[in-house]
Amino acid sequence: MVHRVGGGVYTVALESGETVEAALRGRLKLEEREGDQVVIGDRVRIETTGDGAQVIEGVLPRETTITRSRFGGRTVKVLVANADRLLIVVAASHPKPRRELIDRLLVVGELGGVVPVIVVNKMDLDGAAEVAGELEQVYVPLGYDVLRVSAFAGEGLDGLATQLCEGIAALAGPSGVGKSSLVNALEPEHALRTGELSRKRGTGRHTTVSSSLIQLRCGGLVADTPGFSDVGVWGVPKEELDRCFPEFLPLRSSCRFRECSHLHEPDCAVQQALAGGVIDSGRFESYRILYQESAA
Ligand code: GDP
Ligand code: ZN
Repeated sequence: MVHRVGGGVYTVALESGETVEAALRGRLKLEEREGDQVVIGDRVRIETTGDGAQVIEGVLPRETTITRSRFGGRTVKVLVANADRLLIVVAASHPKPRRELIDRLLVVGELGGVVPVIVVNKMDLDGAAEVAGELEQVYVPLGYDVLRVSAFAGEGLDGLATQLCEGIAALAGPSGVGKSSLVNALEPEHALRTGELSRKRGTGRHTTVSSSLIQLRCGGLVADTPGFSDVGVWGVPKEELDRCFPEFLPLRSSCRFRECSHLHEPDCAVQQALAGGVIDSGRFESYRILYQESAA
């Protein structure tokens, strides 16, 4: 499995537990130029060449993907392959959670087959219980877990460990919500500087664009990818959007039109559910924003 990618060097963990540095076979390099990159979490086949170098000669099919698409899905970039969970981290306050951002990241998880989990950090702050309660009211009925945690007070860390200590997890969410602090609270020896996770290091020419899976002692792997904080640019192709809203799924077949956008068509079951208060208006508003963005 690819554990680190940066500067054309791929750090690959072998089944034996050994780690090797490998380059890409020429054919794969061509695919890279065409945008189909080998990313962290990819399972690959490795060969040793005549001069003893290690070469990645094949990539196994991906079970899940976390992708970032820009400009209405015209350019899609896979950030992490084979992740099991996408932890959507928000703070109860400082900064206040933005529902639209949570919905955007939930869609990213649904789209790539990665189980999203909402993590509300900074539960030690005043008013946190009300904020977390409001989020639970919206998201728990949709089938999403909402974890209440505090990196400072050590609250909820057992539940967080359950999410992080098995398989591959990715932490997404705006900077300042406490992603680095949470990883440090679980395993202090990683000593991530605050704000360190998922941030570009350096500027301009000296920016390192490496991505890695951080191996936790408890067994899990945490994706550390630059760009995970730029959550504003995540988008989704329009045709894929409604299936990423679980509350729309049972309704879609009842709309009069098969390709209903659920925005303005007559006899739309989603619109009826919205009017009847069955669909949360904030969720629908997120859908509308994402739809218009992807149609633009
Ligand atoms: P990241 O950018 O998401 O990695 O966030 P950081 O881990 O760098 O944390 C951002 C800021 O929030 C820092 O000043 C932390 O000290 C603070 N912080 C992190 N976790 C908590 C928490 O549980 N409670 C409070 N009150 N502050 C926190
Ligand atoms: Zn409809």
